[in-house]
Formats: sequence, C-alpha cells, structure tokens
Amino acid sequence: MKWQRGYESNDVEDNRGRSAFGGGGVGMLGPALAIGSRFGLPGIAIALAAFFLLPRLMGGGGDESARSLAPQERSQSVSAGDEQKQFVSFVFDDAQRTWAEAFAANQKPYSKAKLVLFTGSTPTACGNGSAGVGPFYCPPDQRVYIDLSFYQELARRFGAPGDFAQAYVIAHELGHHVQNLLGIEKGVRRAHGPTEGADSNSVKLELQADCFAGIWARSSQKRDLLEPGDIEEGLAAAAAVGDDRLQKQATGTVQPETWTHGSAAQRASWFKRGYGSGSMSDCDTFEGRL
Ligand SMILES: [Zn+2]
Repeated sequence: MKWQRGYESNDVEDNRGRSAFGGGGVGMLGPALAIGSRFGLPGIAIALAAFFLLPRLMGGGGDESARSLAPQERSQSVSAGDEQKQFVSFVFDDAQRTWAEAFAANQKPYSKAKLVLFTGSTPTACGNGSAGVGPFYCPPDQRVYIDLSFYQELARRFGAPGDFAQAYVIAHELGHHVQNLLGIEKGVRRAHGPTEGADSNSVKLELQADCFAGIWARSSQKRDLLEPGDIEEGLAAAAAVGDDRLQKQATGTVQPETWTHGSAAQRASWFKRGYGSGSMSDCDTFEGRL
C-alpha cells in the first residue's frame, strides 16, 4: 500500500505499556460480541465487536500471544512499533475520511471514532478488553482497540502477512463504527434470535463489517493507494480469520453452530463484494430483515 510515512493522527490514542488490571475480562465472557439478551443486563455492559474469539477456542488467556513471543521478537516489535503506529494512523484516518464523505453525500452526520493502541489489556466502556480476542470495537465509547502484536500473529500464526492485511483489520473495525452510527449495531442488539451460529445476527454483522472494509479498499484504489497484491492480502486476511479456519486450526473440527464471524469463504467474499461494488446497499447481509 502506498501510505505516508511519518504520519500522525489526532484520533489515535497511544496507551501502550499501560495495562489494565485483571486478566480475562472480555475474553471470559464468551461471545465477545454481546447481542440480544447478553446486552443491557445490570453489570454486564459489554458490547464488543471482537475480531475473533480465540481464547474461547484455544482455552487460553488473553496474554498468551504476548508471552509466546521470544525476547528478541519483543524488542523488534518495540522498535518497529512506531512505523506500525504511523501505518495504522494513516489507514484509520484515510478510512474515516472516506466514510465521512460517504455520510455527507447521504446527508448523514459522521462522528469520528478513536483508535486506541494498547498492550495486553485495556479498560474500555465495554469492560476490560484483552488482546487475546484480537482487535475490537466498543460501541459505547466509539473506539477501536488494537494491540499491535496482533499483526505478528496474523502474519505468522494465521498466515496473512502484508500491509494491506493489516489495513483490512483496521477497516473492518471501523466498519463496526459505521454500523454503530447507522443504528445497525443497536438493531442487532434488539433483535431476537441465536447469538451464534452460521445464520446468527452476529455473523451477519461481522460479514457486513468485512463488506464495509471492501468499500474502503475500493475507495483507496480509486485514490491510487494500492499496490499489486494488496487486495489479495486483504482477501487472505479476511479468510484467515474465518471461523472455520480458526476452529480447524485450534481444535481440528468445524462447528458452524458456534460461529460468530462467518467462514473463511464468506468473509473473503463479502470483502470482495464491498470492493467490487463500493456501495453500502450491496452490503446488506441482513437482507432487509433488521
Ligand atoms: Zn468484527
């Protein structure tokens, strides 16, 4: 991707090195995307759209990924940290500009999200967020949270390297912000039905965020930001975090009844659809039933 090195964003908050107390948090609550009955219960103010639900699949804690890195890798990630921060800042601002323009074209007000960099765990308006669930969006505080070490996992453990794979992650999370602003996320919380499974609203919400990421990818292509191979990197990343792929990797079996994000094929195909069309009306994963 052609991006501006040295870029800084006013909407990125760097809380790295400031870990929240208490492990578990989000990762302990089962489906981190709390919809339906899970939302609004006293004391459970969790409504996170997490990137995936690895701790549940792996039975591990939130800091597993950080601990598994060798010391040498750790120091490399620190020195590489600022370039990565500049990159996510660039992508985040670029994607927000794209959505602000799209909203303006439809006479809708756009309010900006923030991006929070953290390490390990972080307090959020949705409770304690853990790096173990991957990057996530918290609707009440309108923030995207990411521990940048996730990108090493994405490249090595999930086999999706490349800067556009990383950009897709940010664009997907910002897609959840767009859903929040449009009231889609709220509609899903109000809707009845299963909270997980291949036909669940959770899966539809996630696939729509992938489609929205594709819309941004198309706009970035129009602005000549793409390099050869970028879209393939994005598609590979979307597939790499498909529920079937993650389940197979973690347990050797695939259980569609517990899906929350959609299969590898679905995620890649919705990203492609957004990229191909550039129109939000082609991202109606709910088929008008929300
Ligand atoms: Zn998501």
